[in-house]
Amino acid sequence: EFLERIEKLEPKVHSYLCVTSEQAIQQAKKVDDKIANNESIGLLEGIPIAIKDVLCTTGIPTTCGSKILENFIPPYESTVTQKLKDIGAVMLGKTNLDEFAMGSSTENSAYQVTANPWDLSRVPGGSSGGSASAVAASECVVSLGTDTGGSIRQPASFCGVVGIKPTYGLVSRFGLVAYASSLDQVGPFSHTVEDSAILLNAIAGYDPKDSTSLNVPIPDYSQFLKSDLKGVRVGVITETFGEGLDPVVAQTVHQAIEQLKSLGATVQEISCPRFRYGLPAYYIIAPSEASANLARYDAVKYGIREKADTLLSMYTKTRAKGFGNEVKRRIMLGTYTLSAGYYDAYYLKAQKVRTLIKQDFEAAFDLVDVLVSPTVPTTAFKAGEKTEDPLSMYLSDLMTIPVNLAGLPGMSIPCGFDQQGLPIGLQMISNVLREDILFHVGYAYE
Ligand code: GLN
Repeated sequence: EFLERIEKLEPKVHSYLCVTSEQAIQQAKKVDDKIANNESIGLLEGIPIAIKDVLCTTGIPTTCGSKILENFIPPYESTVTQKLKDIGAVMLGKTNLDEFAMGSSTENSAYQVTANPWDLSRVPGGSSGGSASAVAASECVVSLGTDTGGSIRQPASFCGVVGIKPTYGLVSRFGLVAYASSLDQVGPFSHTVEDSAILLNAIAGYDPKDSTSLNVPIPDYSQFLKSDLKGVRVGVITETFGEGLDPVVAQTVHQAIEQLKSLGATVQEISCPRFRYGLPAYYIIAPSEASANLARYDAVKYGIREKADTLLSMYTKTRAKGFGNEVKRRIMLGTYTLSAGYYDAYYLKAQKVRTLIKQDFEAAFDLVDVLVSPTVPTTAFKAGEKTEDPLSMYLSDLMTIPVNLAGLPGMSIPCGFDQQGLPIGLQMISNVLREDILFHVGYAYE
């Protein structure tokens, strides 16, 4: 049924870079057989799922939306996709993204532009745009994305679905192609908070193959799905209601906050004065890490190779051809901010700012259980509207980035529509490993 829907909708939506129909049908048949034999099946067994094309899948192309990996078929499986395979989830295919997850609209993909299912002339957000649009268009039941600065929450907001960026270290990054390693996290997209709880339960947990993986017990998140909010302290981040915020987004988010109150939560304003330095700090830290991570695309180990007379010209020709403009821009930025003479002024300074942002959050969580804000200052913009102006594109992550810098969990949940019928998202942020609160508040609100 889902494969038929994909065939019908893909010419318009373009969520998928590759659809793995044969494998999907084979896997689904196994589950059918179990059901026919009256065997019990697990919660995600037989559930059609889409995977962002930045997670390695054995024998299935993994392009990261880049020409440089056009021919790359991984010889190993990422921990998260392996876990899903092991419990019998059915992967339908790999979804489109901004090249190496760098972008906010999925327009930086080297292969195709994904449309927002609510208005095909608009972007689905990014960088996990394909995973968000696939859920919104019901081309899968749930999907996985990655979030380095907002790439799950921002497209979830634009596409009217639930998206979660877990605590840094909760979900293994083994087999996730690295963008900015100190910020990257894998997380779920779904129609409902409950579905995200089920999917996060399936992918979270310690992995000795990822040195930043947290060795902590994982609770059953579904036990936190409660419908009243008595005793829950909500903080509204003052600074996220400032300049540049679309008035309709502001009004809709305020209504959502009123609803939290009526469910029993206490609400107060919380100031995070250093929040606004998140964006500039991120655009030093993330490109710095990216410039180092992307050094591995040298035309030798994997990916495309341009013929050349010398080793150096093979490197340069291959990278010039294989990387798109945004990726090149980040490599140049990051190489600059890491170079001797500039390191202290930029990279080190940005790391100090990162600590200050963490401190703002720590102070806030002394007073409240959960912080709320709009997920994005606007609703989905038109395709092409921001492609010539990278800075205005960067601004769409203003409210999501501080969460990654502090390593915290964040959720975006649909909270209404603007006058044109485009979805608006409410962002909720909790303290480290307090995903339970996000599920509690999200489920009660929904
Ligand atoms: N839009 C941000 C960037 O381009 C965030 C991307 C992400 O979270 N992967 O870096």
